[in-house]
Amino acid sequence: DRMVSGEAMTDDASVELSLRPQTLAQYIGQGKTKENLRIFIEAARMRNEPLDHVLLYGPPGLGKTTLASIIASEMGGQFRTTAGPAIERAGDLAAILSSLEAGDVLFIDEIHRLPRSVEEVLYPAMEDFCLDIVIGSGSEARSIRLDLPPFTLVGATTRAGLLSAPLRDRFGVLSRLDYYTTDDLCEIVKRTSEIFDVEIDDQAAVEIARRSRGTPRIANRLLKRVRDIAQVKGEGVISRETTDQALNMLQVDQAGLDHVDHKLLLGIMDHFRGGPVGLDTISATIGEESQTIEDVYEPFLLQKGFIQRTPRGRLVTHLAYEHFNREVPGSE
Ligand code: ADP
Repeated sequence: DRMVSGEAMTDDASVELSLRPQTLAQYIGQGKTKENLRIFIEAARMRNEPLDHVLLYGPPGLGKTTLASIIASEMGGQFRTTAGPAIERAGDLAAILSSLEAGDVLFIDEIHRLPRSVEEVLYPAMEDFCLDIVIGSGSEARSIRLDLPPFTLVGATTRAGLLSAPLRDRFGVLSRLDYYTTDDLCEIVKRTSEIFDVEIDDQAAVEIARRSRGTPRIANRLLKRVRDIAQVKGEGVISRETTDQALNMLQVDQAGLDHVDHKLLLGIMDHFRGGPVGLDTISATIGEESQTIEDVYEPFLLQKGFIQRTPRGRLVTHLAYEHFNREVPGSE
């Protein structure tokens, strides 16, 4: 488990529910998405209809589940949640759908992981609010159609590209969540401090925000650890100094990089003069699977501009050399 992973850890669950904003107004950042949703929600309410089905996509920890629960409360419906990998058979989904009430929001996390046979149950449900059920088998089989109450499906995925076209086409609203700015994260850290009932210095909040990889879940997790250390030190207001000390101890550096990022970047610098070098060669050198490097380690480093993808492989940029206070090879 990495401190800087956007995925939820078991330890996060204890606080996340209490930290979850309840209304669009409390939801910090994501201006464009929020503005659109506010209009769509208001229009749907005026027409007394459910909101169009919404697909939210973006990296883990950016607030997809939170936004889905806000949609439910803003629409005045119940929030029902499940996840793609949890639904194995068509019947499982049919059971969930037939238990919905009018105006409910059904949230399906990791919707790209729904089996195809299950996905097909969703098509008529999303399009016509009905369920086609096959009774009996062989020559005895016949299909009956059940009506469902009007509901809103909110799907979340980290990989929009993996969604099948027929499923994607049935969403009326598609919204990409972006990494948060340091200012937004700083506001989130301050809001969380209030809920934790601890005081935090402005500089300390900025420091946590900077090291949180644009991700609210990471910001809240780092704050929790920093708070523990401040408490042990008997500090009334969490200071910048304690924050630095705590985050250094947790091995989260000034840019939010951890030992895994360091291993990857320094590996390419030390063994391949910064690249370009092929993914498989990197994998063999640092002893991590190519797929993991590509899916989990690289995206943040690419987004920060520390690594570039070139036709000849991965290249560590001058930004990364500056980060480690090193000379770019060949520039001396
Ligand atoms: P995702 O579903 O994208 O993985 P979550 O919705 O579970 O992310 O969010 C993770 C945590 O981050 C939640 O506990 C929530 O409190 C916090 N969070 C996410 N987005 C925001 C936001 N815009 N404002 C305040 N807190 C947020």
